[in-house]
Amino acid sequence: MFLFLGQNKALLIDTGATKEEESFPLYDTVSAIIDNWEKQQKKEIELVVAHTHKHGDHYAGDGQFKGKPNTTVIGLEVEDIQKSFKISNWPEEIVDYDLGNRIMKIIPIPGHQASSIALYDTSTKILLTGDTFYPGRLYVKDWNAFKISIGRLVKFTDNNEISNILGNHIEMSTTDGVDYKMGATYHPKEQKLPLTVEDLKALQLSLNLLGNKPTRQVHKNFIIYPN
Ligand SMILES: [Zn+2]
Repeated sequence: MFLFLGQNKALLIDTGATKEEESFPLYDTVSAIIDNWEKQQKKEIELVVAHTHKHGDHYAGDGQFKGKPNTTVIGLEVEDIQKSFKISNWPEEIVDYDLGNRIMKIIPIPGHQASSIALYDTSTKILLTGDTFYPGRLYVKDWNAFKISIGRLVKFTDNNEISNILGNHIEMSTTDGVDYKMGATYHPKEQKLPLTVEDLKALQLSLNLLGNKPTRQVHKNFIIYPN
């Protein structure tokens, strides 16, 4: 989960894989950070909750935020995302979303899942790629859409400075091409989260070479995994 603070809004990206407030007090944690920020800024801000995509391990905590004061939880369907971020031309259009002196860019990237988005913070130059691109198994649901989305991301990185590309999971170990078993709760020597533009370009090149045939392919720090 990632939290971005602006002068008018806070934007929380994803609410994790756990619903229960007792074992996973996400709302309390985020509220405490925002309260502290509001004291510093001497003004109240709105919390907006959005998601990288509609998979249960990214929105399980939504219930903790629904109905809370000054809080908006954006829905999980493409139409909800289009409406909230004012994207008229999905998935081609990249839009700005202003948190107040902090512009986020919202980039539609369907393929892993139909309502996947990437988010770029113009302040830190961090690019969030959800489950579309991270050091692990890149599950591809819609091969053609995924290829086009990776092309869109590469083009974006050509035109925008990138400090880090951060996805939402780590499934690769520090040994090239070796991942942990699905569901493993112990990850000794796991790879670090950030990936680079070069890694993203390596993915794009492989997808182009594989053409229209969804194919599993192991790379140094990610695995193309059609499903
Ligand atoms: Zn996912």
